[in-house]
Amino acid sequence: MESITTSSYSVHFNEKAFENLREYLRNNAYSKVFVLVDENTKMHCLPLLEKEMTKEISFGLIEIKSGEAHKNIEACNHVWLALSTMDADRKSLLINLGGGVVTDLGGFVASTYKRGIDFINIPTTLLSMVDASVGGKTGVDLGSLKNQIGVINQPQMVLIAPVFLHTLDDRQMHSGFAEMLKHGLIQDASYWQTLKALKNLKSVDKHIFTSVSIKNKVVLEDPTEQHLRKILNYGHTLGHAVESYFLENNAKETLLHGEAIVVGMILEAYLSYKLTGLPLVSLADIKSSFLNRYEKVQFSNEDITAILSNLKFDKKNSHGNINFVLLEAIGHPVIDVKIPPELYVEAFAYYKE
Ligand code: NAD
Repeated sequence: MESITTSSYSVHFNEKAFENLREYLRNNAYSKVFVLVDENTKMHCLPLLEKEMTKEISFGLIEIKSGEAHKNIEACNHVWLALSTMDADRKSLLINLGGGVVTDLGGFVASTYKRGIDFINIPTTLLSMVDASVGGKTGVDLGSLKNQIGVINQPQMVLIAPVFLHTLDDRQMHSGFAEMLKHGLIQDASYWQTLKALKNLKSVDKHIFTSVSIKNKVVLEDPTEQHLRKILNYGHTLGHAVESYFLENNAKETLLHGEAIVVGMILEAYLSYKLTGLPLVSLADIKSSFLNRYEKVQFSNEDITAILSNLKFDKKNSHGNINFVLLEAIGHPVIDVKIPPELYVEAFAYYKE
């Protein structure tokens, strides 16, 4: 599979991933190399990386606790301190080996340690392969509010080796698959149809390249999210509000990122039907396709009120306005849409129907 190369970073796939890493490390004289893992990627993914790298590098290992609840400034502090204790200097490299939590947090730590050191992302979940590891958004949550602290900064490289997915459970695979379905909805109706028809996520590997290409193309055109990049937020405005609410509410089971975004995509499809001309048949297709794969989440009226109050923290807000990405058709997004407040409750009612 071809690599994706840009002026600031490259994405390498499959067997080329490790080949390129070895070559990159040979050609760049880093003073020290560090690998960031969580306890799961330490167990399942580090041995594979070590096998690929043994002769080439020695590295310092830094571990954080897994899960969204640890994507916070305390975990960053732990990593900054570990780097400092192991004498990382400005010519050090951090390799983030993990899911979106590790790549988001590791990218942020690297971007701020001594005003910035290089980092490489080796995503190990489907979600981080097709989404989180590419595009340069790094950061952490503030309490339960998602991604409030962070910077946009590109990694040197992203290495996508689907072999890591062999140890990932089905629920996590589906969480990542939700972002791939989003890529179809915002850019390519035929890709949406292809993915919808996939019976088994075991054959998802061959579609990873398409998703990464879609994301990469959008990011390159608008790295700092002034216009086009906003389309990647489809489903995420309400989805993040749902995810934050479930994260902060101990009585609720935590929703995975992709699961919350599925709810967001259905709600925002309804808003698209009401406001931007998404045909009814497409709305029904989006809802049924998602609910055939993803369990419906239960929301009480109190839940909905609390979720809507989270919307004001969305990073896409400006001047007090909440800006949505909606669809006028599958594959055709519209940015910066304002929502009449009464439609939110209607959208939840449609979801619950
Ligand atoms: P995650 O990093 O929490 O990983 C999910 C779980 O899988 C964790 O328990 C992890 O330890 C485990 N794991 C990772 N790789 C494994 C493997 N190969 N085998 C077995 N277990 C493994 O979550 P995620 O879904 O990868 O990422 C979600 C995060 O990504 C969220 O914080 C979200 O905000 C962020 N995100 C960022 C962007 C971006 O552009 N930066 C885009 C989308 C999502």
